[in-house]
Amino acid sequence: MPEGHTIHRAARDHQKLFVGYKVDVSSPQGRFNNGAKSISKLECVAVEAYGKHLLYEFKNDQFLHIHLGLFGRIRRRKLPIEEAKGKVRVRLVGKTHFVDINGPTICEILDEESKSKLIDRIGPDLLRKDADPNKFFERVISSRAKIGTLLMDQSVVAGIGNIYRTELLWRQKIHPNILGKDLDRSQLENLWNDARALLEVGVKRNKIITNFKKAGSVNADSLNIYKKKKCPGCMGVISKIEISGRVAYFCVYCQSETS
Ligand SMILES: [Zn+2]
Repeated sequence: MPEGHTIHRAARDHQKLFVGYKVDVSSPQGRFNNGAKSISKLECVAVEAYGKHLLYEFKNDQFLHIHLGLFGRIRRRKLPIEEAKGKVRVRLVGKTHFVDINGPTICEILDEESKSKLIDRIGPDLLRKDADPNKFFERVISSRAKIGTLLMDQSVVAGIGNIYRTELLWRQKIHPNILGKDLDRSQLENLWNDARALLEVGVKRNKIITNFKKAGSVNADSLNIYKKKKCPGCMGVISKIEISGRVAYFCVYCQSETS
């Protein structure tokens, strides 16, 4: 599954490709013909990411809303147009490039009102400058759910996927099973700031990097404990548990279960 940074990266890239231009929108696969028609050949006025949701705004105040889900793919190519590869749900053609989106979980047209409702449902997005960390702190501190669950809940905080969850909790020495209500404000502030910094690096480098010591070397190992056997901090054995349907890795020595 793409983590939040890949969607923000796509949004920043697609802003350059489409904003200010009349975009040809079509559905080579045919499943999105009507939606595509309602925005095609209109000027694209903004492309934004909210968590893992991509929103392309058009001149008629309609939004193309994309969520890739587990299997969706974005393909970006220079013009001229090529034949569609696989089941392309929606194709956007700009001045210099075209973008094909295959297999998204969500591909729909929203009006201003339904777009606002969508954004209200999404938690503060670590990669947005306008994100309000207090919303995240309040949701976590008032919750009896595990922090490992809360970090993956996009209505609590948007942008963290399974790899970042594991790496962030290890970096902040927080056990994934600790309940939200048992964490204190300074732990959450550190978590928020670290997550923001790591995701920003992810967008810039197009890669998840959480271990900066090794990231520059050849065959760089840019992660600390995700899918690893040994903890680089204490050389202890890495444990794993399933939380929210995904495997979380942690070090019992470095990440104490009592906060
Ligand atoms: Zn350790």
